[in-house]
Amino acid sequence: MIELGSCRLSLVDDGDYRLDGGAVFSAVPKVMWEEYKTPDDFNRIRMATNSLLVERGSELLLIDTGIGDRGGAHFRDIFGMEDGATRLPEQIRQAGYELGDVTHVLLTHLHFDHCGWNTQGDPPKPTFPKARYWLERGEVEHARHPNVRDRSSYDPVNWEPLFEAGVVELFDDQGSPIEGVEAIKVPGHNADMCIVRLDGGEGEEAVWWTDLVPTAAHLPYPWIMGFDLFPVTIMENKQKWLPRAAEAGWLCFFGHETDEPVGHLVESRPDRYSSEPVSLPSRLEGDER
Ligand SMILES: [Zn+2]
Repeated sequence: MIELGSCRLSLVDDGDYRLDGGAVFSAVPKVMWEEYKTPDDFNRIRMATNSLLVERGSELLLIDTGIGDRGGAHFRDIFGMEDGATRLPEQIRQAGYELGDVTHVLLTHLHFDHCGWNTQGDPPKPTFPKARYWLERGEVEHARHPNVRDRSSYDPVNWEPLFEAGVVELFDDQGSPIEGVEAIKVPGHNADMCIVRLDGGEGEEAVWWTDLVPTAAHLPYPWIMGFDLFPVTIMENKQKWLPRAAEAGWLCFFGHETDEPVGHLVESRPDRYSSEPVSLPSRLEGDER
């Protein structure tokens, strides 16, 4: 648990998966990225599926919901998912909460690895029975009409049952589900993805980068993913946001970082940022991954 002013933050995750290292680092040569991420025999690197619980007063907000449990053996094989990993619902319980305690779910975007536990069961129902789900309108429209490039990233089972259950709150460009939590549209990874700014009060602030900066190794401006639909735009947005985060001392969360998911940015040389990790004793205890 991390205290951020009057908020209590708990980092939880849905187990690791694996992606091709070349795809994760795009034009960066392997001789450079493998210093940070060691590939397996299939050239895949481990990716976390982090989510964040934000407790403030009587409200409990969850940012992103991992991969979910619908993937069959073939899916788990392609993405190198290990059997026996502690998945998101259990992690939430280990953090001291029940699924029914979650009052708000905020989705940074609707790619399958960020919203998989939105629903569960057959027929699919909201996993968090008391929550309102906050979705950005443009992302929903795109998810319903994806292009050839990104259609494999979207699965309607992750959002349509929410509309059927009447639990969706749509927002445009910017949305604030609870006090001190603000989703802000930052294009680049796709057109409508939102980062999340947290203001706990007492001068304590944080940011959930989601796929703007998926791991700490993606902090250099040109270190972007091959999946990013708008490469130049994402670099420009990193140039805009990273100096702000460093200057203001925001606590930074990296959604796909396995090893050092939380840190403060430092300008290690002009115009180049790196993360000074903040250790999370509760998460690392007994966690051999
Ligand atoms: Zn994504």
